[in-house]
Amino acid sequence: MSYPGLATATDDRTAKASPADVRRKNRQLIFALLFPTKQYSRAELGRRTGLSRVAVSDVVGQMLEEGLLRETGQAPSGGKGKRGTLLSIDTNRLRIISIDLTQEHLLHGTVTNLLGQPLRHAEVTLNAGAYVSVDIIIELIEKMLGMSDGEVIGIGVSSPGVVDGGVVRSSTMRGWRNLDLATPINEHFGIDTTVSNDATSAMLTERFFGQGGPNMLFVRMDSGLGSAILLSDTPVIGELHAAGEIGHISIDLNGPLCPCGKRGCLETMISADALRKQMANVDDDERQAILARAGRYLGQALAMPAGLLDMSDVCIFGQPDIINTTFIDAAQAYLDASTSSSFHKHTVIRRCECGPDITVQGEAIAVLLQYLAK
Ligand SMILES: [Zn+2]
Repeated sequence: MSYPGLATATDDRTAKASPADVRRKNRQLIFALLFPTKQYSRAELGRRTGLSRVAVSDVVGQMLEEGLLRETGQAPSGGKGKRGTLLSIDTNRLRIISIDLTQEHLLHGTVTNLLGQPLRHAEVTLNAGAYVSVDIIIELIEKMLGMSDGEVIGIGVSSPGVVDGGVVRSSTMRGWRNLDLATPINEHFGIDTTVSNDATSAMLTERFFGQGGPNMLFVRMDSGLGSAILLSDTPVIGELHAAGEIGHISIDLNGPLCPCGKRGCLETMISADALRKQMANVDDDERQAILARAGRYLGQALAMPAGLLDMSDVCIFGQPDIINTTFIDAAQAYLDASTSSSFHKHTVIRRCECGPDITVQGEAIAVLLQYLAK
């Protein structure tokens, strides 16, 4: 999957595209130009896509009817010719149900608009160590559907762990192995269901609403530790859908035992939960030392992928008690010492500024991209 329209390559001339394919592609092109908050007239969309007036008018007409776009007033007069009506993404009609399974003690459900912005929230509180069954998730979705004020185009579930299609292959945090989430949810509601890895969902928000560009190494540090890689606006998935799963790479073979069976996994050493435990009963100097050491571990872990992929942007999502200046500076210093060279652009490690809805928003965007690709 690459993000429609963000990549400009078109293969219409080489592949024999059916009219339906062409129409879908044109729809994606126009949507990508307007997403998230741009406004253009039909004429401007024609100029930017290279599509004919008839083609733009045809696709736009269909998208207006469907509720994807709306007309938002008149373009400023350009001097000659009549002023065009501006179009933008319609946030009033279609809805997405987006579920966040990343927090250990609660499940977070939302109804979002087409920008992934949550309009309604609900939570299910979990007892410590409680097993999360598909039924609990279905119950939460049922509740969200009842709260929706518009037609729901898809359901998205963001899960920690390795996600392969609609199946969570492995989630240490949830204790899941090969758990199919998409099929039972889809069969229960008859609504298309998308399941994504939590780091990938969050990265989508950073790409479209944060500071991230088309190339980014995105690291998520909360209960677990995972990452997602964006190369030329295409997420790197991996042969077994486990790209970015750095949490269970050992950085100390003699370190503490991890639930996965290995020792010294990055997640066991420096996830937010692990660090909070380490810092629980120590003085401030010791806390700083723990965070600085954790930053060096992360810098060490990221040096190879950052150098290997010639990546200049590393974005870290996490709470400010962990991802603070001490941590970032230590990670940056390690990375600088280990990767800087004349041919590798300086890699900057920065903190993700997206808010707590980053996961549900990104998952809603994943649903939307699937919907547009249909
Ligand atoms: Zn492990």
